[in-house]
Amino acid sequence: MKQSHLFTKTRREAPRDELAKNAQLLIRAGYVHKEMAGVYSYLSLGALTLKNIEDIVRKEMNAIGGQEIRMATLHPSEPWKQTGGWDQVDVLFKIDSRTEKEYALGQSEEEIVTPIASEYAPSYKDLPLSIYQIGQKYRDELRAKSGIMRGREFGMKDMYSFHTTQEDFERFYEIVKQAYLRIYSQCGLVAKVTEASGGSFSQKISYEFMVLTDAGEDTILYCTECDYCVNVEVAGETKEGDTCSKCGNSTLQSGVASEVGNVFDLGTRYPKALGFTYKDEEGNEQYPIMGCYGLGTSRLMGVIVEALADEKGIVWPASVAPFTLHLVNAMASDEQAVMYADELYNLFTSRNTAVLYDDRDARAGEKFADSDLIGIPYRIVVGKEALAGNSLELVNRATGEVERLTKEELLQRFTSQSV
Ligand code: ATP
Ligand code: MG
Repeated sequence: MKQSHLFTKTRREAPRDELAKNAQLLIRAGYVHKEMAGVYSYLSLGALTLKNIEDIVRKEMNAIGGQEIRMATLHPSEPWKQTGGWDQVDVLFKIDSRTEKEYALGQSEEEIVTPIASEYAPSYKDLPLSIYQIGQKYRDELRAKSGIMRGREFGMKDMYSFHTTQEDFERFYEIVKQAYLRIYSQCGLVAKVTEASGGSFSQKISYEFMVLTDAGEDTILYCTECDYCVNVEVAGETKEGDTCSKCGNSTLQSGVASEVGNVFDLGTRYPKALGFTYKDEEGNEQYPIMGCYGLGTSRLMGVIVEALADEKGIVWPASVAPFTLHLVNAMASDEQAVMYADELYNLFTSRNTAVLYDDRDARAGEKFADSDLIGIPYRIVVGKEALAGNSLELVNRATGEVERLTKEELLQRFTSQSV
């Protein structure tokens, strides 16, 4: 995409009321637009980035047998009343209507997915079953203080699975856990898995996936040698400096972290409340064991910004960046440079490399500052050297490393074919 065509512009200052680094940078770079506290619109760059994150999640969920659906976000009140959520879930947005009916906005989808699964899984032969969606959630959060990391409207992948036995649920949980860890690592993050309290809804196991970042709202204790990790909320007597109870080789360290996903063992709570039974091999009606697996896609985007940004701006890992390359013409008023940069842009785009091309009539310094703020992994600079038939500058946004490569070498590196 040509930057002259991008309708968003960078800005020097973020809104005064925006205290979170992720939102400050994302607003300044034109990724998101703040509608009100806890509600953001995703603009061109932001929508591309969020879609890349969603695609990583989608690929991993499909790979473990999840089937993607799109559930309603405007919910009837009846299933919420049946499960007790209507009165118990404090973050539930409830909506009145002129029809005298009441509705809820989806904050999680157990009330919707359970009747769907019930309709299509009447027999043990239909189980296990795992269904997921990626979409918007609405929660009446008391405080929306961490930019896109805690919204009143936000993106989530939520998967629900139904099993005939606890063992089968636990087998599947382990598979999901590995998929989650692959998702976070593809997003350039390291996630720790805590053993955590189930909250009001869980009957048995619940785990949280935590990424260390000062912008988080949780405090965890973790072992520096093994993968042991607990949320301090539930750590009981355990404290920083204690010897790790799992490996015994190291002491526990404390850190602030953000929850980027979790899994709950819901047991038979929802199938019981909503009347979902299946016939077992003997023909007896049984309630399936249900699991739910949440992953905050928009929070993940915020956490990536928090974890990887530097003083100049955002730093995206290539996997989620809105573009692979930022092609910057540093000599915008030079006709020859414009022709050279145009040609390079056409070569990359015809080879399906995602390029943001800064073709604007602006000073080089301004373009470089914008490029650092926007955070695309590689910047290619068209300058004097390139015009003289020599090399182009390739700058790695994360490391600042500069290489000089010929046009052919660049095409070779960033496309599958050479010229
Ligand atoms: P938290 O403790 O942070 O409020 P939660 O326990 O309410 O999270 P879930 O209801 O299980 O979380 O939601 C699944 C995932 O959705 C969370 O792990 C988190 O990544 C994300 N998430 C939850 N609430 C929000 C929110 N208000 N804004 C953005 N993402 C959220
Ligand atoms: Mg919550």
